[in-house]
Amino acid sequence: MSAQRRLIGLLAFVSFAVFFWKAPDWLGLDEDGIFYRDLIVQMAGPTLAAIACVFAARRSTGSDRQAWFSFAIGSSLYVAGNGLYIYYGVTAMVVSFPALPEAAYLLMAVFFAAGMFLYGSVREQISRVQVYNYVLISCAVMLASLFLLHGALGQSVMASFPTFVAFVYPALWFSVAASGLISLLIYPQGRKSFGFALLVLAVLAEAIADFSYARQLLQGTYSNGGETQLLWVLSTALIVWAALEQRAVAAPPAVDPARRLPIQAIAEAAVPGAAIGAVLLSGSLTGALGGASFVLFSASLAFVFAVVAGLREFWIIKTQRQLRDNVEASRGALARSEARLTSVLESTTDSLIVVDRDWRVEYFNQNAVRSAGGNTNLAIGASLWELFPTEVDTATSNRYREAMSTQQPVSMEEFFGNVWFQIHAFPSPDGLSIFFRDITEQKVARDEMQYLARHDPLTGLANRGVFRERLRELVAWHARFAVILIDVDYFKEVNDTLGHPVGDALLKATGERLSACLRRTDLVARLGGDEFVFIAEGADATEAARLAERFAEVAATPHRIEGESIRLGASIGIALADGSETDPDRIFRNADIALYAAKASGRGKALIFETAMAAGMQERQALRADLRVALENGEFELAYQPLVDLRTDKVSAFEALLRWKHPTRGNVPPDVFIPIAEESGLIVSIGDWVLNTACAEAMSWPSDISVAVNISTREFSSGELTGNVRRALKRSGLEAGRLELEITETVLLKNSKANLATLHKLRALGLKIALDDFGTGYSSLAYLQQFPFSKIKIDRSFISGLPQSDASQAIVRSVIGLGIALGMRVTAEGVETQAQYEWVKLGCNEAQGYYLSRPVPAREVQAVIARHGASGNAGVPKARQAS
Ligand code: C2E
Ligand code: CA
Ligand code: CA
Repeated sequence: MSAQRRLIGLLAFVSFAVFFWKAPDWLGLDEDGIFYRDLIVQMAGPTLAAIACVFAARRSTGSDRQAWFSFAIGSSLYVAGNGLYIYYGVTAMVVSFPALPEAAYLLMAVFFAAGMFLYGSVREQISRVQVYNYVLISCAVMLASLFLLHGALGQSVMASFPTFVAFVYPALWFSVAASGLISLLIYPQGRKSFGFALLVLAVLAEAIADFSYARQLLQGTYSNGGETQLLWVLSTALIVWAALEQRAVAAPPAVDPARRLPIQAIAEAAVPGAAIGAVLLSGSLTGALGGASFVLFSASLAFVFAVVAGLREFWIIKTQRQLRDNVEASRGALARSEARLTSVLESTTDSLIVVDRDWRVEYFNQNAVRSAGGNTNLAIGASLWELFPTEVDTATSNRYREAMSTQQPVSMEEFFGNVWFQIHAFPSPDGLSIFFRDITEQKVARDEMQYLARHDPLTGLANRGVFRERLRELVAWHARFAVILIDVDYFKEVNDTLGHPVGDALLKATGERLSACLRRTDLVARLGGDEFVFIAEGADATEAARLAERFAEVAATPHRIEGESIRLGASIGIALADGSETDPDRIFRNADIALYAAKASGRGKALIFETAMAAGMQERQALRADLRVALENGEFELAYQPLVDLRTDKVSAFEALLRWKHPTRGNVPPDVFIPIAEESGLIVSIGDWVLNTACAEAMSWPSDISVAVNISTREFSSGELTGNVRRALKRSGLEAGRLELEITETVLLKNSKANLATLHKLRALGLKIALDDFGTGYSSLAYLQQFPFSKIKIDRSFISGLPQSDASQAIVRSVIGLGIALGMRVTAEGVETQAQYEWVKLGCNEAQGYYLSRPVPAREVQAVIARHGASGNAGVPKARQAS
């Protein structure tokens, strides 16, 4: 209720009191008028009070609710008592005191007492001390009342029972008021105290009124009206007000007696003393202590007092003992949990040292003793810094201090006395618990794993992941740099022929050589296989080219491995970044394209990426896609170029040369699409088609003319070659001796054992095998001894130098010599002029070239045969016409 409303309530209350008091004068009321005024007020007042209390009860909860119901019942009893008196008055019925109304009034006091107690009760556990206190104070107040009234009681005009009843009235109400006061002062219920204070005031007013009523009764001077009447009225008005103040406030949580304000606890303890004091004070004040009129009554009260005080003391002792038992029980539980904790701490694999805020050891487990080593005398109370003097000012100890001051746990790894420790330190307000464990093994393993995750195990260089990371970083920084991609030439061949250990050794050596070129900001990584990459930070085109040249040189320096001298080389692709690139993958792709272009233009080259290369790459991809369907679509055809026997000038064979009539691009040269077909593996099925077609067409030629078919290395590794050849022969019915396979040296280079075996099998079928493009490959002469070829075809690059170039002459002559020595026929390729023709005629067995005939479609083969067929010399000029 707001202060304003309270003020209005107070004003209404005062004006009502004044009006009530002054009404007889102001309204000129006579005796009857006063009687009716009292009648109205005596009925209306308590009725209003009862109703207000019911509402207050409905707004309350718990024991408050019960308290207000008690007050409501008390007020109703008041209405009943007054009603009876009014009935007696109206009917002029004469009743002796005490009568039925007195019973109602006394009962009313009992209900009020109950209400007071309920209001102040500490719920959940109604303290027994509280009950004793109520009883004690009630007894004391009654005794005091006895002393205060003892003079009047002694001179009572009434018989002893009515006298007793007259005394009990005020005594009872004073007790109720005293109980209320105790509830208010010692057991207050939070914010509702104002309303309750009004109620206590109401009870006090009732007590005072009854006191004066009792006095008048005892003296026989009582009459209606007067101050007594006013006090009764005020009392009921105060009850109404108090009830209105009762708000719907949820009962506050029960207050633990032990937690009450000290002042209230002291007040509670003082209750028995105050009770005795009140008795003695009132007794001595009125001089009643000597009198013996009501010895029996006071003696019985004193007996109750004594018993209750004793019980109270007993209860206190009992509570204390219980408390002590509880403490002991919890102490035992604590000891048990401590023991349990210790056993846990001892059984953990961690070491533990607990220190207090002054870094003195409070606890340590046996693991800690072991970890600390023999020299450290770990002991309770010892200073951590004296135990570990080298640790006083280290990063680790600083972290401990940090943990202590911030109260946040810290974790770290520390290398101490040859051991790696993992440390977790947990602070508490009292100190620090330091857990640590030996992680040397894990740490080494982890470091190794981290190393492995970033390095290539064979060469020890950084791996692809590191390279990509660095690339991304540089792009993010907008740095200028060059990506130099290095592919070791002939590595696969060497690895296949000389075995993996040699291959590994070569890669390792190459890695070391590349590392030797590193500057501080560079990175060299192995991407896998025989591919390395070098990132040169800050490098421009000139610098990158210079580096590439150096790498090429380094790669081409012969290696000495297992007593053998092995010479490799490197193809190099370079991509430059000037800081404007945003896509690291694109830079890498560009370097890859440049590398591809370098390889395609012959090994051992270094090329810097150009946009045109990317276009070439795209073109190749498009061609590859078209090539996949070319066979099904019948886009292939064979052209035939004659090989002429230089002794007879007759056609001895035709070489089948593949032609691709692309639906939109027209004729695509074999130099362009054959490498793509090889790369993609399509060459296997295309080669089979060539074999079958060539064999079938050769069946229509004169039986002394052979057909030569080019076989790519890739067809050997497919494992199907022998079967395909056998099938082609069978299907066409061609005699095996008329089929010649042209292979290059790479067939012997790669996977040489298996390929050699295949070659022998093919030869066993009765085929001829020619070594094509002789002189262009790698370490040529060695291969001639490995396999008995039926023919060596000297590459046209040597023939084109004839007859002017002495070097070409020397080479061609030596090959002719070799052929004679090994019993192999020698064919000159690419004969374009008469001079060449005449020159080769002196030593070679066979010639092929535009001078004799360009490759012709199948249908023209007969014409070519006819031209060359008859006379040896006449054929040549005709052939030139034909081209
Ligand atoms: P190759 O085996 O050395 O074939 C001879 C090539 O030399 C043919 O080129 C032919 O047209 C060309 N040629 C002949 N006489 C002369 C001449 O006097 N001067 C010049 N400059 N060139 C001459 P082509 O037909 O373009 O074939 C190129 C290469 O494609 C062949 O070289 C061969 O390696 C490959 N090839 C062609 N057809 C097939 C095939 O069916 N299978 C496989 N695997 N490779 C084939
Ligand atoms: Ca050939
Ligand atoms: Ca050739």
